[in-house]
Amino acid sequence: MQVENLSRIELELLFGQWGRRNGIRKHLLDLDDTICDTDKVFKEQFLACSAYLARKAPQLGPEQWKKKLVEVNDGLFASLGVRREKLGAVMTEVGKQYSLPGEVRETAWGILDQIYERPIQMLPGAEEGLAFIKKCGVPLGIVTHGGLQWSWRKYQWLNMARYLDWDEVYVVDENGHKTERSWQEGCRYHGVKPEECCVTGNSPLSDINPALNIGVRHCFLVENDGLWSIHKVPLVKEVKRIPDLSAFIGLGAEYLTA
Ligand SMILES: [Mg+2]
Repeated sequence: MQVENLSRIELELLFGQWGRRNGIRKHLLDLDDTICDTDKVFKEQFLACSAYLARKAPQLGPEQWKKKLVEVNDGLFASLGVRREKLGAVMTEVGKQYSLPGEVRETAWGILDQIYERPIQMLPGAEEGLAFIKKCGVPLGIVTHGGLQWSWRKYQWLNMARYLDWDEVYVVDENGHKTERSWQEGCRYHGVKPEECCVTGNSPLSDINPALNIGVRHCFLVENDGLWSIHKVPLVKEVKRIPDLSAFIGLGAEYLTA
């Protein structure tokens, strides 16, 4: 069946049928860099912070400061996860290594901390994709670990109420990356067994592999530039790769009917 010959209504019907045939009761999605462009905000604030440090502490150029900040930030991921305070710990560590004055450290932290204050945008294709899934009658749920307050802000910035209630956003422990346990808890919260949901995310480490390991049968990997190097691990099983969420609209009759 040629997907480009199908009308929008036929595509919706096909997707709905595929869901029913596979016993899919809920479509669970990751939020950061799956639905919204969190990576852009991170990159811009890290860049601004590096430029500031290069002015105040010219022993390193902006590019070298950026490398240093990323290196320390990555190093603290295992112990501090994605907590907001982690960026303070990054500047404490960097400040110690380069004997930065307290005021410079504080200002640099302030620049990084803006990450949590800046409105985040939808990724291209996300609005179309979410609207499509909803239209097909598949309830949506979010499983994220970005912290409760920040998640609530993102929900509002992105006007996510168009697609799901705030109650459908499950915020897991932010002190690490999402694990099998996080997805198990996420499924329990959303009232589905792993085999009754689809999981879509951009991280093999935090989304796809743990979901596959607990028995989710249908996973979709959003492949975009926003993948933090820490999350780049081999998939435990090959899954469907999509460039953005709008790919659900024309996922292909050959896949959906399989
Ligand atoms: Mg993500």
